[in-house]
Amino acid sequence: MTGLRIGVVGGSIAGCAMAIAAGRAGAEVTVHERSDGALQERGFGIVMPPPLHRELVAGGYLGADMPTVPVADRVWLTRASGGRSSRELARQRSPVAACNWGLLWRALRGRVGKDVYRRGTPVESVGRASSGRALIRTGDGEREYDIVVGADGHRSVTRALVAPDVRPMPAGYLAWRGTIPLDVLRDHPGPLELLRTSWVTLGFSGGHAVFYLIPGPVPGSRLLAHVVYGSAPRPAGAREPVPVEYVRDLAEEHFPAEWADIVARGEHGTRALHPVADFVTPRVAEPPFLLAGDAASVTRPHTASGAVKALQDALCLERALRAGGPVAEALRRYADERTAEGARLVELGRRLGRALVERTPDWPTMGPAEVEAWSRASLNGDRSYLYGSVHRP
Ligand SMILES: Cc1cc2nc3c(=O)[nH]c(=O)nc-3n(C[C@H](O)[C@H](O)[C@H](O)COP(=O)(O)OP(=O)(O)OC[C@H]3O[C@@H](n4cnc5c(N)ncnc54)[C@H](O)[C@@H]3O)c2cc1C
Repeated sequence: MTGLRIGVVGGSIAGCAMAIAAGRAGAEVTVHERSDGALQERGFGIVMPPPLHRELVAGGYLGADMPTVPVADRVWLTRASGGRSSRELARQRSPVAACNWGLLWRALRGRVGKDVYRRGTPVESVGRASSGRALIRTGDGEREYDIVVGADGHRSVTRALVAPDVRPMPAGYLAWRGTIPLDVLRDHPGPLELLRTSWVTLGFSGGHAVFYLIPGPVPGSRLLAHVVYGSAPRPAGAREPVPVEYVRDLAEEHFPAEWADIVARGEHGTRALHPVADFVTPRVAEPPFLLAGDAASVTRPHTASGAVKALQDALCLERALRAGGPVAEALRRYADERTAEGARLVELGRRLGRALVERTPDWPTMGPAEVEAWSRASLNGDRSYLYGSVHRP
């Protein structure tokens, strides 16, 4: 693939990973990123399967020094009936590598050459040149490429060429995402102890919350990442920053007392409000264009697989390019594999969303056997690394 020119629109997780993949396959790459700032400031928690993390380190996408917090188990909690104490419902084997989104981006970005990554360069349009090659137009002119990778997120301009009719489907509920300084857990040794070895899912009627530790910006430090899902209507006129009292009130109403206190005291952490939505693209490549990450498809966050999918997209691109042959053939191989995976994850996210938010079970009546049976029914024969032990016979 030496001599192949690839332009990437977007320089976030998917954009950096695709640039590394293309570079490793011998192509000449240019990344066009709209933002002029350091994207690491977007830092929240994300998790990925440990085997994928190992594959990315072995493959040269990530340095072994990128910090993660590996935990082996998932603990299911709820508020005990008729009280405010916490009740453990079940424990499942569910190994995850918890990451700080910002540190992950920085690690990937560090492997994309300075002259390759053009920040502060919004792409105004993507199209076809008269030569049949792909064309990217920015404020400082036009460039032709053999392949253009749309890694420009869920509002992708590149997707308009590949799948113009695709529109996000709102799920009808919200996710509040944040990180909380760890000293908030000083007065809560029980939850801290639990979080050292597990990630926590806290079920309540009409939603759930997820808590896990991630690496902080200072080496060796930790932050508490959390996401709260609820179908409560968005408060009138609510905008960023998230109205603190809204999440606090939800936690106060539904969480065990100590977890509600953690959320209430985490007010000074980083927060964002995401209306949950998803979409599938019928085919993620139309030569000479291809889509990656959120530009290609968005799954509801219950699968914890948006960044995972973007990283797997990159591994797939490298394989497809290394297999040789014409560009159209490489893109066909990529599209065959990644279109199916995007569709699978969107369907899985919808099923998990129904089970975890839209039609929640009566959590306080459940124990390990019921959580196991309910998990199996929610997966409906599919697989998710978040439900590791549920797959075992
Ligand atoms: C609550 C929540 C929890 C999540 N948890 C997990 C998890 O545990 N595990 C996981 O794997 N995933 C998780 N995700 C999903 C994950 O965060 C995203 O899928 C991932 O960050 C998407 O990366 P991306 O690079 O595809 O898109 P983005 O990060 O959106 O990047 C797109 C980039 O393109 C740039 N851009 C856009 N338009 C242009 C243009 N015209 N010109 C130039 N540049 C442009 C933007 O500036 C941006 O930098 C979660 C998501 C949410 C909402």
